[in-house]
Amino acid sequence: MYRVPRSQLVYAMSASNPPVLRVEAGASVVFETSDCFENQILSQTTEFQALDWNRINPATGPVYIEGTEPGDILVLHIDRIKVADRGVMLTGPNLGVLGDRLTENSIQILDIHDEQAQFADKFSFPINPMIGVIGTAPAGEAVACGTPGQHGGNMDCKVIREGSTLYLPVNVPGALLALGDLHAVMGDGEVSVCGLEVPGEVTVTITVKKQSTLPLPLVKSSDALYTIASEKTLDEAANSATRQMVHLLTTLGGLKPYEALNLLSLAGNLQICQVVDPLKTVRMELALTYVQHLGIII
Ligand code: CA
Ligand code: CA
Repeated sequence: MYRVPRSQLVYAMSASNPPVLRVEAGASVVFETSDCFENQILSQTTEFQALDWNRINPATGPVYIEGTEPGDILVLHIDRIKVADRGVMLTGPNLGVLGDRLTENSIQILDIHDEQAQFADKFSFPINPMIGVIGTAPAGEAVACGTPGQHGGNMDCKVIREGSTLYLPVNVPGALLALGDLHAVMGDGEVSVCGLEVPGEVTVTITVKKQSTLPLPLVKSSDALYTIASEKTLDEAANSATRQMVHLLTTLGGLKPYEALNLLSLAGNLQICQVVDPLKTVRMELALTYVQHLGIII
């Protein structure tokens, strides 16, 4: 088993990032990750001014996958997500959907015990660990880890969790996979600007599809398939995610465009990933039963 320490990190997905590890397809890799504040918040009284805002949203990596070329697809099975026993949240002016109303910055720390997050003294609820940032290097300009896109990145999509398989494009030789920004739990939308931000460890098994034509990014869970799209507005992201699933159903499932759209109108679920990053992210969910019935093999 390979391991990448959390000290090996990047703040942007870039073709020019030197690889910190080279593996063959089929390898399993453990990525140790810092939280999105690079573990700078130690208590509720940590001063905002004391934080180094250049060290936000680090991703561990990148890992070079031998033999991968642009046009290939990286197939990432999330074997395990292990999170720390406390998580942090932060919001304030210019952050999240109340950024125009909040007058003070605030930090909230939640303890995690027995897979439950304790919310103040009020209640506890089950955690649902997920990966906020996971991506490959784009072919062109570097993309900051805080921004989502076709290469993946900061999608903040809660179905990217243990047991799921994520499909990402290979845009440069070796793909240059990096990930971080774990959330112990997050609701769709991520309205305050963060999830329950935690350091942790992610075990990923990496395989490659040669020259496949799937719409990307794509996630497969135990019971559903999701196309993911990030655009300037939620409307555009919703349209893109829908179009990507229509593309999949028509090219691989043999449906006519109107049939694919009608199927999604009846059985597909548009879901918001997040509304607080530089681009907004939406996913279209379709139960695997429909995908399998059409003979589509992902
Ligand atoms: Ca994030
Ligand atoms: Ca985050």
